[in-house]
Amino acid sequence: MSTLPRRVVVLGTGGTIAGSSDDASANVGYTAGTVPVVALLHHVTPPAHITLVTEQVAQLDSKDMDVATWQRLHARCVQWLSEPDVAAVIITHGTDTIEETAFFLRAALHAAKPVVLTCAMRPATSRAPDGPQNLRDALAVALHVEARGVLVVAAGEIHGAADVRKVHPYRVNAFASGDAGALGYVEEGQVRLVRNWPPAAPLLALTAEAIARPAHAWPRVEIVVSHAGTGGGLIELLIRERQDSRTGAADGLVLAATGNGTLHHAIERLAERAHAAGMDVVVTTRCADGPMVGVTSSSYFRSSPYSPVKARVALLLRLLALQK
Ligand code: ASP
Repeated sequence: MSTLPRRVVVLGTGGTIAGSSDDASANVGYTAGTVPVVALLHHVTPPAHITLVTEQVAQLDSKDMDVATWQRLHARCVQWLSEPDVAAVIITHGTDTIEETAFFLRAALHAAKPVVLTCAMRPATSRAPDGPQNLRDALAVALHVEARGVLVVAAGEIHGAADVRKVHPYRVNAFASGDAGALGYVEEGQVRLVRNWPPAAPLLALTAEAIARPAHAWPRVEIVVSHAGTGGGLIELLIRERQDSRTGAADGLVLAATGNGTLHHAIERLAERAHAAGMDVVVTTRCADGPMVGVTSSSYFRSSPYSPVKARVALLLRLLALQK
């Protein structure tokens, strides 16, 4: 590892890692996004030649994550990563939508240096908080000489942005990468890699101007789940809004299909109509692990290898790139 003086930038966005409660025994029922990012680093000691720089980009509960915060995060990452003495960017984030923000950055950012998102399941005021260790692990990953790409580090595991999902609402090791598995582990401050680092290149070619477009001008993409007993009423509503040329009518529709891409017959029929009404339709599986097998795109939908929420981000950005 180089011993030249270097900086690691920590961007705070809120979440449980920055959460607080009057009751130190409370690991639920706290308020997310209250402790400033600079205070989260009190328990993190960087190596002597590393300086930590903090920036509070947002302070929210990530259930409320929004386009404006994504835009700010993207712009700050681009700026900091371009500084020659900046080794990496760490982002503190809520667990609820960390996989969506990570995927957004994976799709839109060139990350030749690591961009490491981390989080916590217990608030900063907890008697046994997980945030400080996650931050130390995130720093170990950020300083790994070969690290690159957008990563999520939590509970000693390193996940790639394309595969990671929150799989548990309470326990500390709340994340998994399905069939792909974790990229590696952080053990006693050492990184043990079991898969390759993800590519640095973004998934999509998006201009800075496109990403900076006002949030209200971004395309609208909805997710509809195919389930037993559905009548497809939500899709009918979306089609009607388009046919009435309603402002803000949906531009894209992600269908979370059952099993290997199967759709309830009511949804299948309406998906074709949605496409005919001008919506981009994407089909993915609602199953937690593994992509669909042999489900190719058709005349009215494209198949996606991502989870429904990530397929939505991918479609959103694809439509944004195409927007005039
Ligand atoms: N609701 C919180 C958030 O996503 C949950 C967490 O961070 O664990 O911000």
